[in-house]
Amino acid sequence: MAEISFRDVTKIYGDGTEAVTSLSLDIADGEFVVLVGPSGCGKSTLLRMLAGLEAITSGEIIVDGSVVNQMHPRDRDVAMVFQNYALYPHMTVFANIAFPLRQARMNTAEIRRRVTEVAGTLELTEHLKRRPASLSGGQRQRVAIGRAIVRQPKVFLLDEPLSNLDAKLRVQMRGELAQLHTTLGVTTVFVTHDQTEAMTLGQRVAVLNDGELRQVGTPGELYHRPADLFVAGFIGSPSMNLLKAELRPGGDSGRLALDSGPAGVMAIPEAAAALCAGAPVETALVAGIRPESLLLRDPATASGDLPRARVRFTELVEPETYVHLVGDFSGVDPGDPDAPPRDTLVARVRSDRVFASGDEVALEIGGTGLHLFDIDSGRTLR
Ligand code: ADP
Repeated sequence: MAEISFRDVTKIYGDGTEAVTSLSLDIADGEFVVLVGPSGCGKSTLLRMLAGLEAITSGEIIVDGSVVNQMHPRDRDVAMVFQNYALYPHMTVFANIAFPLRQARMNTAEIRRRVTEVAGTLELTEHLKRRPASLSGGQRQRVAIGRAIVRQPKVFLLDEPLSNLDAKLRVQMRGELAQLHTTLGVTTVFVTHDQTEAMTLGQRVAVLNDGELRQVGTPGELYHRPADLFVAGFIGSPSMNLLKAELRPGGDSGRLALDSGPAGVMAIPEAAAALCAGAPVETALVAGIRPESLLLRDPATASGDLPRARVRFTELVEPETYVHLVGDFSGVDPGDPDAPPRDTLVARVRSDRVFASGDEVALEIGGTGLHLFDIDSGRTLR
């Protein structure tokens, strides 16, 4: 069990690549933290520095009150599971799991006891005599995890451990990992590029981009109170709709409205009004609307002011339909190279509503899924 602190940690590789920039993050004893961000954002570098596999350029990594910067990986009491599992093909499952204990010269009886216990926890008991080649992907994954936990490390590190598994197995292993964490209570740092995986697994999730920590929080905080445009666009599927807009005093109701340019004006619902309280009026900003808060109305009966859009195509994801729309909006790129193009909006509606390509709809904002961002800094306006 261990507390981990990253203090102003920077990593510059020999070729000048700055992979991590002045990053600070505290992880509590027994916590399960997920590092998430697009490929190349520095997640693995951070994990490898914690494991001692990569030197730290500046700053400190502290585990249980001791600076570990100069400590040999072997002495850090940290176990890591890699994406490719790195099992020894010529060894049995038993020997693979026992390997770190043999290296530590533990006595044979204790090795047998520990391997048997771990195999039981991971449902590998009947496979102990087999070799990795004869196991399924999920079983190999479990052997790699077994080899890591058998040492009873202080810290457990996982670098994209589920990405080689098929979708169904990935979901199953997620559940098993969460359960294992509850059982063992070991401080765990899990790296993934997949925001869905991050949001389902992490007690807290740290979002990285370009070597910088953009926000750390519970999945709920990241989804409902993103700190900036990057986090807003990266977290959530389908992504938040981001468009250039201005706030306007809202006519009869006295409430504010969102002017999205030529497309039209949307009233801001009461529930979301507080979110706009500190935002400047009649100033260009970026409005973010979650797909479930973009309501589609019948254009024949909706107010003429409401922006119109046309259906490009629909995706059926029971029990919902994602309706992809095109209109006279100025989309905004949140800075994530993997994000979809921003010239369209997406609405999430119940699948019993039927839309066809080319249908016209009127758009309204509903609920609290509205966010406003400074157009220059990308920071959330509060
Ligand atoms: P992630 O795990 O988020 O995909 P990495 O930590 O692997 O990101 O990489 C972060 C950045 O550092 C990337 O730009 C990558 O190309 C670069 N990088 C990673 N390893 C090395 C290395 N050994 N030498 C030089 N640059 C590297």
